[in-house]
Amino acid sequence: MADIAVIGAGMAGLSALQELAAAGHQVQVYDKSRGSGGRMATKALAGSGWDMGAQFLRAHSPDFAHQLSQWQQAGWIAPWSPTICRYENDCLTPSPDAVSRYVGVPRMTALSRGLLQSAAGFHPAVRISTVRFAEQRWQLQSDDGTHLASADALVISAPPAQSAALLENTVPPLAAHCRQQPMLPCWTLLISVQQPLAVTADAVFVRQGPLGWIARNSSKPGRSGAESWVIQASHTWSATHNDSPREAVQQMLLEAFCEVFKLDAISITGQWLHRWLYALPASTGNAEFLAAGGLPLAVCGDWCHHPSVEGAWHSGRRAGQYLNHYLATSSGHLQERI
Ligand SMILES: Cc1cc2nc3c(=O)[nH]c(=O)nc-3n(C[C@H](O)[C@H](O)[C@H](O)COP(=O)(O)OP(=O)(O)OC[C@H]3O[C@@H](n4cnc5c(N)ncnc54)[C@H](O)[C@@H]3O)c2cc1C
Repeated sequence: MADIAVIGAGMAGLSALQELAAAGHQVQVYDKSRGSGGRMATKALAGSGWDMGAQFLRAHSPDFAHQLSQWQQAGWIAPWSPTICRYENDCLTPSPDAVSRYVGVPRMTALSRGLLQSAAGFHPAVRISTVRFAEQRWQLQSDDGTHLASADALVISAPPAQSAALLENTVPPLAAHCRQQPMLPCWTLLISVQQPLAVTADAVFVRQGPLGWIARNSSKPGRSGAESWVIQASHTWSATHNDSPREAVQQMLLEAFCEVFKLDAISITGQWLHRWLYALPASTGNAEFLAAGGLPLAVCGDWCHHPSVEGAWHSGRRAGQYLNHYLATSSGHLQERI
């Protein structure tokens, strides 16, 4: 049994955790945020839990479909069947499809919390700033140089720029590779309204103007409190307004939201604007995960594989399987520890 550190409690890190813990390893998970889930985060506001990042999970592969059914059985996710519309050419039209969508219940982070049950320890609000491999062990340090932990093997599941910063001194070629993986931003506005809006759509794919996606958050299973909406700008618009003043962004997104539903005004009781600097990889990765030959290290994330929760899950799973194999076959100190 080995001690393993996982940096990042998003889907990729937690998927690696699942594999490693199932093989009997002791896994410690570290995340700089106060909670888990990464880009599957939930924002608690005005008595509601808003899905601030990933809106739903869907499976393209049979493996992930199987995984979703297991999570559903565990009670961590449930199906969400919104009335879907599309907005383009100034028209809102129904856009039904046969996609099976799932969400964490009662909020998206229920899934990450469930997955963390197999960790030997979870350390939120801990930013790892340096990793070093010395005397066959990984040494992890925080911003102020405090030694946090040592481990036999390491999983890094941070977005590419943050992974690159960690790898800079230890594996420079891997750091250089990470730096070449661009990510797209996304401005996201969350609002709660006094009166439910008289609109039939629960979710809209927006194909014009500043927006990309709108969802009635309160239409998802298990969400309580006042009616709430998630309004996401398109990646293109977000990129061109990356440095715009927050008040101006908020105003433009609200106006675009009212335009989609042809509303003159809405009475808002709570709102929150968030800028995801690293929302989605700009392209599909050409690897499942990254490894540095000879080191007990795996780097994973949606950006290695596919820009989705499923992509992150697959990448983390393959990273975990790789380290399980590495640890099972490596000779020397690990064998002695076992
Ligand atoms: C607005 C938005 C909407 C989306 N909608 C969908 C959707 O509907 N469906 C879908 O499938 N996907 C969606 N996605 C994409 C999906 O959320 C991601 O593909 C997936 O969650 C990425 O998981 P990950 O583990 O690779 O990365 P992350 O979730 O980003 O996890 C990385 C973690 O590493 C932590 N970290 C970074 N650096 C450090 C450090 N130095 N020390 C400690 N911790 C660190 C971060 O805090 C973070 O928690 C959306 C994303 C966004 C932003």
